[in-house]
Amino acid sequence: AKLAGGNQAAFFDATLAETAEQRRHLENDLRQAVAQRQFSLYYQPIADLARHRIAGAEALIRWHHPERGLVPPDQFIPVVEQSGLINEIGLWVLDSACRQLAEWQAAGCPHYLSINVSGRQIPDGLPPQAVAAAIARHGIAPERLALEITEGILLGDIGVARAWLLAVQQLGVRLYLDDFGTGYSSLSYLKRFPLDTLKIDRSFVQDMQAESSDHSLVEAIVAMARSLRLRVVAEGVESAAQLQMLEAMGCHYAQGYHLSRPVPAADFAEVVAGIDRR
Ligand code: C2E
Ligand code: CA
Ligand code: CA
Ligand code: CA
Repeated sequence: AKLAGGNQAAFFDATLAETAEQRRHLENDLRQAVAQRQFSLYYQPIADLARHRIAGAEALIRWHHPERGLVPPDQFIPVVEQSGLINEIGLWVLDSACRQLAEWQAAGCPHYLSINVSGRQIPDGLPPQAVAAAIARHGIAPERLALEITEGILLGDIGVARAWLLAVQQLGVRLYLDDFGTGYSSLSYLKRFPLDTLKIDRSFVQDMQAESSDHSLVEAIVAMARSLRLRVVAEGVESAAQLQMLEAMGCHYAQGYHLSRPVPAADFAEVVAGIDRR
C-alpha cells in the first residue's frame, strides 16, 4: 500500500524501518498517536449471500498522521506489535467497536461487527474480562461482536490459546479465523477450537476462475466448513463473477472492493443502503 504523501512512504513502511533510529522515530510517533488519539476505525461491509443484504462489517484501523495523512495498518501494525503498544491500541479498538455496535443497535440496525486481534494480545493484552467489561459498558449484545484471530495464535502455547478462546466464547462473543489457508492450517484446529466462522484469504478468492485450482480449493473449503457447521466469509471479492461463483458454492458471506472499500463510520449507512438496493 502507498502512503498519501509520496516519498515519505518509505519512512513508514515497517519493513523499511530497519535502522534503530528509524524504529525509534516511528515508535515515538506512534506513542504520540496513542496519546493524541490519531486513530480511527474504518468499516468494510460484509454481505450475506443468501439474503442479499449486508450482515455487518469488519473494523479496520487507520492512522491519521498530522503531516503524512492516512497511514494504512500494514505500515505500522508490525511495529505496534513489537513495541508492546498493541495492547493499548487493541483496547481502544475494542472500545470503539463496541461504541459503534451500540449506535447501530440504538438505530435498530442488527449488524455484526468484527475486530482484528493480534496474537501478541493473547492472552494478557486482551483479557476476556476486558472484553466483558467493554460489552457491559456499551450495553451491546455480545453475539454481535466478533474477534478475528489468525492461526498464528495457535503456534504458541496451545493450552493458553485454547483457554482464552473458550473464555471469550463463554461471553457469547463470536470467533472468526482470519486469513484461512495462508498459515499452518491444520484441519484439526477447526474441531478443537470454538470457532464460528472461517474467513478465506483473498489470495484464493482473487485467483478463482471457473475450473481453476483455486476455484476447487475455495469450493472444498466452503463444503468442509459447512459440514463442520462453520460459517464462511470470502475475503477480497473484487468482481461480480467471483460473487456469483461464491454464491453458487454456498459460501455464506462475502467482503471486498466489489461491494465496498472500508469507509469511515459516517459513510457506512449510505454505503450499506446503496448495496442493499442493488
Ligand atoms: P485483514 O484483517 O486481512 O483485513 C483485510 C484487508 O484487505 C484490509 O486491508 C482491507 O482493506 C483489504 N481488502 C478488503 N477487500 C479487498 C479487496 O477486494 N481487494 C484487496 N486487494 N484488498 C481488500 P487494511 O485495512 O489495509 O488492513 C490490513 C491488515 O492490517 C489487516 O488485514 C489486519 O491484519 C491488520 N489490521 C487492520 N486493522 C487492525 C486492528 O485494528 N488491529 C490489528 N491487530 N490489526 C489490524
Ligand atoms: Ca481481518
Ligand atoms: Ca483477512
Ligand atoms: Ca491479514
